[in-house]
Amino acid sequence: MQQNIVEVMDLIYDYGERPAVNGLTFSLRKGEALALLGPNGAGKTTTVRLLNGLFAPTSGKISVFGLEPFRQGDDVRSKTGVLTETPALYERLTARQNLDFFGCLADMPSVERGKRAEELLAFFGLHDRASEPVGAYSKGMKQRLALARTLLHRPPLLFLDEPTSGLDPEAARQVHALIENIRKENGQSVVLCTHNLAEAERLCDRVGVINRGRLLALGTPDELRKQVMPGLWLQVDLWSPLPQQVWRSLEGNPSVLEIARSGELTLRLLVSEQAAIPVLVTELARLGGQLLAVRPQPISLEDVYFALQEKDRQENVAEVHHALE
Ligand code: ATP
Repeated sequence: MQQNIVEVMDLIYDYGERPAVNGLTFSLRKGEALALLGPNGAGKTTTVRLLNGLFAPTSGKISVFGLEPFRQGDDVRSKTGVLTETPALYERLTARQNLDFFGCLADMPSVERGKRAEELLAFFGLHDRASEPVGAYSKGMKQRLALARTLLHRPPLLFLDEPTSGLDPEAARQVHALIENIRKENGQSVVLCTHNLAEAERLCDRVGVINRGRLLALGTPDELRKQVMPGLWLQVDLWSPLPQQVWRSLEGNPSVLEIARSGELTLRLLVSEQAAIPVLVTELARLGGQLLAVRPQPISLEDVYFALQEKDRQENVAEVHHALE
C-alpha cells in the first residue's frame, strides 16, 4: 500500500469570529497530486499555511512526513516547496541572484547552489535573461522563476497556490506544462490550490472541493461525477416543439433525472445511464417527437463543482435562518 505523507484530521483554524478552516480531513499519498478547489475565501491558503507550520491549528491534527508542522516547522519546510499566489521575489536582484539568495536561506552549499540555479534557469527557459533584474520580467517569467525558487532545495512535496493566477492563457499553458514535466521527472507530491477547474482536472489525480473551510467532496474527477451527479446529459435538438404527450412521458420517466429547456427547440435531459438513451429516443419518436439530433454530453467537473457549491449555499442559507429563529 502507498504511504500517506500528509494526514489531516478534523482540522479547524480560526482567525477571529468565523473558522477559516472548519473540520478538514484528508490525506495525500506519496507521488499524488491533490487539488483543493474552491472559491475566494474558501480556506485554501490557510490550509497551506497550517500544513507548513505557520500557524498552530485551533484544533485537529496535522502530520506532514510524520512531523507536526507547528512544532517542527523547519524540518517540515526543508521538505516542502511553497509557491505563493504572488511570486515572492526581489525585483532589484537578477534571477540568478534571487535563486542564490533563496538557496542561501535553504542552507545549500555555494557550489551546489550555483549548479542547481543554472539547471533550473535552463529548465524554465530563463537562462538567456538570468542576469536581468527581475523587475524587468513579464508576469509569466516571474511565475516561472518563482516555480524554480520553489524547487531549489529539491523538496518532495510542493504546495502550489494559484500557480497561474493573473497569467494570460499562453503563459498559463506554459506553467501547466512545466508542472507536468516536473512531476514526470521527479515524481513530487503536489497540493494545488485553485479555483480553475480545468487546471485541477489537468494537473491532479484527486480533487477536494472546499467552501467555507469545509470539504464538500473528495475524489478523482470520475468518482466525484458518480457521487454528485450520476448519469449524463443528453442534448436534444428538435425539428418542431414537442407535443404535450411527450412532455408528460419525459416527466414520468424514471431514467430522466432532470429536464432543462432552452427555447422551444432544444432541451437537455439528465439521464441516469447511457443504456437508457436508445429506449428513451425510441419512446420520444413513437409519441410524435421530431428529433433532429441527440448528443450525449458527459458530466463535466464544472457541473459537479457548481452542484456542490449550490448545495452548500442552500445549507448556509438554512443555517442562517435556523440561527435567526
Ligand atoms: P483565495 O482564493 O481568495 O486566495 P482562499 O481559499 O485561499 O481564498 P483563505 O485566504 O484561506 O481562502 O481565507 C479563508 C478565510 O479566512 C476568509 O474568510 C478570509 O477572509 C479569512 N482570512 C484569511 N487570512 C486572514 C487573516 N490574515 N486575518 C483574518 N482573516 C483572514
